[in-house]
Amino acid sequence: MNPSQNTTAMNDRDLTVRVHDRSFRPYIGTDEIDVMVSDIAEKINKDFLGQELTVLIILKGGFVFAADLIRRLRIPVKIETLRASSYGVAMTSNGLIDVEDDFPDLRERNVLIVEDIIDTGTTIVELIKRIGGLQPASVTVAALLSKPEMHRENLVIDYVGREIAPDFVVGYGMDYAGYGRELDAIWVVDTATEEFPES
Ligand code: 5GP
Ligand code: MG
Repeated sequence: MNPSQNTTAMNDRDLTVRVHDRSFRPYIGTDEIDVMVSDIAEKINKDFLGQELTVLIILKGGFVFAADLIRRLRIPVKIETLRASSYGVAMTSNGLIDVEDDFPDLRERNVLIVEDIIDTGTTIVELIKRIGGLQPASVTVAALLSKPEMHRENLVIDYVGREIAPDFVVGYGMDYAGYGRELDAIWVVDTATEEFPES
């Protein structure tokens, strides 16, 4: 962990970081993230040996994971980006996703979609459908995190860093209300300090 100025702690167990109007607790540290990313890169290097890969980074959340992942790849790589979002300010998926219309040319390419986290799966299912229609040579998915209990349908995710409980996390590219993407570790919302509106 690299506590920035907005962390408070009496001792390690009480360490929290304030993001916008919520407190978050340490969840996945930088060392573990490193191992997760290296493991995924190793598998991709093996699976795509002798081939070229187009890494399609899903913005904004996927950019930190993608930046670390591509620097561990040892095969020829091209980078593309695509904006997609399913969350507003709230911490729960609204089931609606907004995907940028301007898709890169992915014909005949081995496309690796790089996502930060898969929750209900709505976003990734829609992306796979739309990208699949662009005549790519292949489509695979790398997600740093996945919440299997939340998946709405049976999902096959080719590369997953770690499966987690259905809790809301921030950091390492992932935001809460637009903030917290710069945190180098991953933090989980602290339900113990959650504020409820006065009734
Ligand atoms: P899905 O469509 O699978 O329900 O939601 C996927 C998208 O929602 C992810 O790309 C991510 O942007 C966002 N998301 C899902 N769970 C979380 C979470 O715990 N924290 C953050 N910051 N974003 C999440
Ligand atoms: Mg996302």
